[in-house]
Amino acid sequence: MTSLPLIPVTSDAPAARRASMPPQHLADLDLAGRQALVTGLGEPAFRAKQVSTHYFGRLVRDPQAMTDLPAATRDRLADQLLPRLLTPVRELACDDGATRKALWRLHDGALVESVLMGYPDRVTVCISSQAGCGMACPFCATGQAGLTRNLSTAEIVDQAVYLAGVAASGAVAGSPPRLSHVVFMGMGEPLANYNRVIAAIRRLVSSAPEGLGLSQRHITVSTVGLVPAIHRLASEDLSVTLALSLHAPDDDLRDELVPVNQRWKVAEVLDAAWDYAARTGRRVSIEYAMIKDVNDQPWRADLLGRLLAGKLAHVNLIPLNPTPGSRWDASPKPVEREFVRRLRDAGVSTTVRDTRGREIDGACGQLAAAEDNDTNTDRAGEAPA
Ligand code: SAH
Repeated sequence: MTSLPLIPVTSDAPAARRASMPPQHLADLDLAGRQALVTGLGEPAFRAKQVSTHYFGRLVRDPQAMTDLPAATRDRLADQLLPRLLTPVRELACDDGATRKALWRLHDGALVESVLMGYPDRVTVCISSQAGCGMACPFCATGQAGLTRNLSTAEIVDQAVYLAGVAASGAVAGSPPRLSHVVFMGMGEPLANYNRVIAAIRRLVSSAPEGLGLSQRHITVSTVGLVPAIHRLASEDLSVTLALSLHAPDDDLRDELVPVNQRWKVAEVLDAAWDYAARTGRRVSIEYAMIKDVNDQPWRADLLGRLLAGKLAHVNLIPLNPTPGSRWDASPKPVEREFVRRLRDAGVSTTVRDTRGREIDGACGQLAAAEDNDTNTDRAGEAPA
């Protein structure tokens, strides 16, 4: 399968990057907040519902298409409720159109990406919670460049609304038209942007016109393991799925692969995961990137099996997607199969994740990293001799 550039949109180099939060947008506010804002502008409160129905109910993001609003009102509400947050830089498709990746430029020039994945029974979007990431996991493309800034609630939600609109247009052949699942597995550490991510989840699960009306169980929050935030998440009245990026069962190796482990050790992070499982009744997904000769030894499978046996957990093995210039490779298939066999023998439910979007730099952060390199190269080319 070949990668297919769909829309080479804006190519202008970003202005000097000074990270700053975007203007407020309706998706930052709950319905009551939107009503207060609208009445403050001298408009009747019902306009808040009307605009929300367009945005969340019909997935219309362009104010000019909201033709049931009088023109003057439309312009005023567009300014205050619907500022443009995401400018598409590039959209790519692969897997015969079942995977679509979008790269966005934010108002301050920061780049983030999202992925839409169609399956016969569901449509999933993978969204970003931060521009960049401060967690510095050495195998992850996003981790290499560091954190630019947190995304606003609306910048997070708008990724899902945009791609829900793409799905609704029938662009993902062989899949239902309605977005059903959202995973926070794009750029960033969602629990490091806690309040905005929680607000975004509330928008995703509130019924229309307040929100997108997704099922809580169909939202997955993936974390490196910020222990206090996991406990806090367990105390929200949300039963979203927690994914824990473990990647090693022993502290020696996890200290290197997931540097936040130097703060919260394997035993502590697993305790937090079991607390989450106990308080929500939800099975925790343990993410484990299979890295050749690094974390894929039979003894590590056995140790992982002992840690997880009898727990409300499922292991999701991810074949490593090597980042450009990486010293690491994916584990060979026979090694992966042996790892799976040992975990299952220990009574631990285990699957290997599909590798959607590989040929469009689908791995975390790779598209943004590639764009950044292109831009830097262009800029170097322009420098006066
Ligand atoms: N910061 C969060 C969510 C973003 S990454 C977290 O770490 O969980 C989503 C998942 O992709 C994580 O499990 C992450 O470890 C994994 N990942 C990152 N880079 C990868 C790569 N090159 N190959 C395979 N998985 C990768």
